[in-house]
Amino acid sequence: MDTQSVKTREGAVDVVVIGVGTSGEDLSLQLLDAGLKVVGIANGLVGGECAYWGCIPSKMMIRAANTLHEARQLNSLAGHSRVTPDWEPVASRLSEATSEWDDAIAVDRYEKRGGRLIKGIGKITGPRTVTVGDESITARYGIVVATGSKPVIPPIKGLSEVDYWTTYDVMKLKKLPKSLIILGGGAIGCELGQVMARFGVDVKIIERSNHLLDKEEPEVSTVLERTFADEGISVFTKSSIRQVRYTDGLFAVALEDGKEITNERLLVATGRKADISELGLETIGIPSTSGTIQVDDRMRAGDGIWAMGDVTGKGMFTHVALHHSAIVASDILGRSHPPASYHAVPRVVFSDPEVGAVGMTELEAKKAGIEVTVIVKQLPATFRGWIHAIKYGVMKLVIDRNNNTILGASMAGPNAGEVVGLLTLAVHARMPIDELRNMIYAYPTFYGGLGEALGAYGRGLTTIFDPEYKGVKVLDEMMQKAVTSST
Ligand SMILES: Cc1cc2nc3c(=O)[nH]c(=O)nc-3n(C[C@H](O)[C@H](O)[C@H](O)COP(=O)(O)OP(=O)(O)OC[C@H]3O[C@@H](n4cnc5c(N)ncnc54)[C@H](O)[C@@H]3O)c2cc1C
Repeated sequence: MDTQSVKTREGAVDVVVIGVGTSGEDLSLQLLDAGLKVVGIANGLVGGECAYWGCIPSKMMIRAANTLHEARQLNSLAGHSRVTPDWEPVASRLSEATSEWDDAIAVDRYEKRGGRLIKGIGKITGPRTVTVGDESITARYGIVVATGSKPVIPPIKGLSEVDYWTTYDVMKLKKLPKSLIILGGGAIGCELGQVMARFGVDVKIIERSNHLLDKEEPEVSTVLERTFADEGISVFTKSSIRQVRYTDGLFAVALEDGKEITNERLLVATGRKADISELGLETIGIPSTSGTIQVDDRMRAGDGIWAMGDVTGKGMFTHVALHHSAIVASDILGRSHPPASYHAVPRVVFSDPEVGAVGMTELEAKKAGIEVTVIVKQLPATFRGWIHAIKYGVMKLVIDRNNNTILGASMAGPNAGEVVGLLTLAVHARMPIDELRNMIYAYPTFYGGLGEALGAYGRGLTTIFDPEYKGVKVLDEMMQKAVTSST
């Protein structure tokens, strides 16, 4: 850039926020409300991924798809139904929720609170200084980087030559394809795959590792794999891709084992990563080679610079991004706030059954050298699971054997995203198992499965269950296989 043409507005600003997404917007509004002069630089929609391209639209789709599924349950539980899916109400609800992907309301709110917004790409050009277009701004307190992450496009032969979809395309769909291949069986691939399948799309998911949701407990993944199989979703695990082609109106994915998978559309959902290479971090002595910005527990990356959200690599969740923005706001405003802490970050996958997990998995604990006791409870064999007639579901607890506190917990089952609230409290407070065993659980609830898992109640009454109850037996064998194949 020609530095002569750069206009400077030294001293006029307290904080510059680069990236006004989930955490950038939240932080800006907190600082503006406290009376600071804030400039936000946004090269995307103000409000970010969660509001327009991520959590909110995807969860609206899931709500709709689950309604279809629930209606289909009528036949086995309460009568007869004939379900005819229609994507149009979903597309119009998304379009309304995002104002047709227009951030005018958010921009207006930002400016009415006293903030200045500049649309463009922000680049750090010196200590506490950011340049956008031909304007350079130096901030009194400093710069906050909240530039998020983007979909990873893996270097697969042929992929860059075909017209694949990312999640951005899916959020704006007005009409569904007949069939879809999804590369990646992580949270996004599983959530969107199940939505599409419930709307009648033929879905095939290709996953490189041993299981769907491979970072979660294998018992949890197995519940999802089993459910997906029942719903007609084809899952290809342990599958490396050799090449992708588009031929005769179809995408063709050739696997290393010789199989070829074809379908009408291709969605790449192989993860997300931050890109900090163009941010100019090196001008203030911060390395840009590690892929994420290293921060301390106050989210400080250096003198006069903070980073928050996905760009820090501390967990790509809205709740982590908002945890960060609260800490940065307190740090800048000189208010007290506990330091960032990650031992109890909840992870929810909004599949059906939902997955709710928190803290360490068994494998993570073992890798960290901790001796653990593990309890696995199959949810079809809990009171509520049985009443609800669920076929698959599991709860798993990872307990530190040295002090009998809970290190991690996972559930795949109805409302797991809500039950994980209780599990998160237990892991966050490093709660002794005896506390959890001795509390009173409402009966019959899904969260009460925790009490049953810990043997808190229900020993006698469990005789009402048929020991040959099919769901439980099948699950037992599956779990055994899942654990063996992942260790
Ligand atoms: C399909 C999908 C579903 C998801 N579902 C969930 C969920 O259910 N629950 C959950 O907790 N999380 C979910 N997430 C993740 C969640 O959306 C993100 O973790 C969160 O939005 C990250 O917030 P952030 O503040 O780090 O960045 P973002 O919200 O991504 O905002 C970053 C902004 O910075 C802008 N930017 C980048 N570089 C520059 C630059 N140089 N100058 C100016 N602007 C720049 C970007 O354009 C973007 O607008 C989902 C994500 C996706 C994709």
